[in-house]
Amino acid sequence: MAGTPPYPGVDVTGTVHIVGAGLSGLAAALRLARAGRRIVIHEGAGHAGGRCRSFHDATLDRRIDNGNHLMLSGNRGVESFLAEAGAPGGLAGPEDAEFPFMDLGTGERWCVRPNRGPVPWWIFVSARRVPGTSAGDYLQGLKLARAGREDTVAGCLGTARPGFRRFWEPLAVGVLNTSVDDGAAALLWPVLKETFGRGATACRPRMARVGLSETFADPALVRLRGQGAEVRLNRRLKGLALHHGRVARLVFADGEETLDNGDAVILAVPPAVAAELVDGLIVPKGTRAIVNAHFRLESAIDGVSLTGLVGGTAEWIFRRGDVASVTVSAADSLAAEPAEAIADRIWPEVVRALGLGARQLPPHRIVKEKRATFAETPAEVARRPGTDTAYPNLKLAGDWTDTGLPATIEGAVRSGFRAAEALTRTP
Ligand SMILES: Cc1cc2nc3c(=O)[nH]c(=O)nc-3n(C[C@H](O)[C@H](O)[C@H](O)COP(=O)(O)OP(=O)(O)OC[C@H]3O[C@@H](n4cnc5c(N)ncnc54)[C@H](O)[C@@H]3O)c2cc1C
Repeated sequence: MAGTPPYPGVDVTGTVHIVGAGLSGLAAALRLARAGRRIVIHEGAGHAGGRCRSFHDATLDRRIDNGNHLMLSGNRGVESFLAEAGAPGGLAGPEDAEFPFMDLGTGERWCVRPNRGPVPWWIFVSARRVPGTSAGDYLQGLKLARAGREDTVAGCLGTARPGFRRFWEPLAVGVLNTSVDDGAAALLWPVLKETFGRGATACRPRMARVGLSETFADPALVRLRGQGAEVRLNRRLKGLALHHGRVARLVFADGEETLDNGDAVILAVPPAVAAELVDGLIVPKGTRAIVNAHFRLESAIDGVSLTGLVGGTAEWIFRRGDVASVTVSAADSLAAEPAEAIADRIWPEVVRALGLGARQLPPHRIVKEKRATFAETPAEVARRPGTDTAYPNLKLAGDWTDTGLPATIEGAVRSGFRAAEALTRTP
């Protein structure tokens, strides 16, 4: 939105150097560019988008995403990002809040269908909930509101009721990318409150209509360049030089960048990189893998679709065009297996879930993101730093910072907005 007046109180004098062009860095850049700041983005890779990107896969001869990304219609950070990038229509999904599921063990199918409005009467209607559960299985979720810092999902909710394995576990593992025995219960409540807690309009599943890059990074870069931001790809930050308690220089392989008074830096890099760059910074150290298995099918669908699976290895199947992509979260042990073994294991589950009949393994690609997110355990959550650092002109962004949310696109985007807003407080 070129020409939008700066937000009140924004110091529009200096340049903001944003290091890392993942969604947190891009969110910070969009907000600051809109407020009239001069922006320079330094990205170590040859492309923007970080852990949320698309690429052409030669085996499938299709453009695929590094991993399926599920969002919900109540993700207001995501919505703001898309609006500020000038691409509000990038997401697609069912008109209603519908989550079709299959149990790969028993063959049973069902569809979880929250109702419109904030009063969740759907939990009292058997056709809208998981078979074999009652309203009490869902009311267990209220315990999450009082979850302590040390509580795990399994410890907080209890695992005895049938709804745990068929509702709470898939939801928690998908959101936290950490097993229910380790995952921090406290991170789930804000997600539930902002999505399922607001009824069907806020919990419709949302997926990239075309691809993640086309939805997020590409339009953001077009908008930012149009607003005069400089985007420097293949520019890895190697060090920060500190002087008089502030960042004075940025050190790159190809030279240095001296900061004037009024200039600032937002570090929007992964936690391990931030800890190398900033002495004494405490960050989450553990990580969890996500494995995605992409298969090219013989037939295509219009739009996108999502199916949840329990009782097997595959957890979610996303379909877009003629590609079916399976997600397995908290997948460190699976990621250690050879790609072909993973494909052989998952393909029969896809055949069953999509009712494809007996089929040979089609062209496929296994993508292992070994450090997909930080391990969202109570101990690692306690290590998340805030936006501010000991240096007034240095702010942090990233899904691993202390957003109060899980490490998701929504968390990443909000951390970027927060870092941008923090600079408005810094003279
Ligand atoms: C397979 C997978 C599936 C996922 N599924 C979902 C999902 O379903 N829903 C959801 O909401 N979220 C999901 N996520 C999480 C989501 O992708 C992340 O939360 C989000 O992309 C993180 O953005 P970020 O900006 O915090 O970090 P990153 O995307 O990691 O961005 C950091 C950037 O910094 C750059 N960088 C690193 N070092 C340097 C350096 N020294 N100098 C300059 N640049 C540097 C990197 O190249 C990168 O571009 C998934 C993630 C993965 C990997």
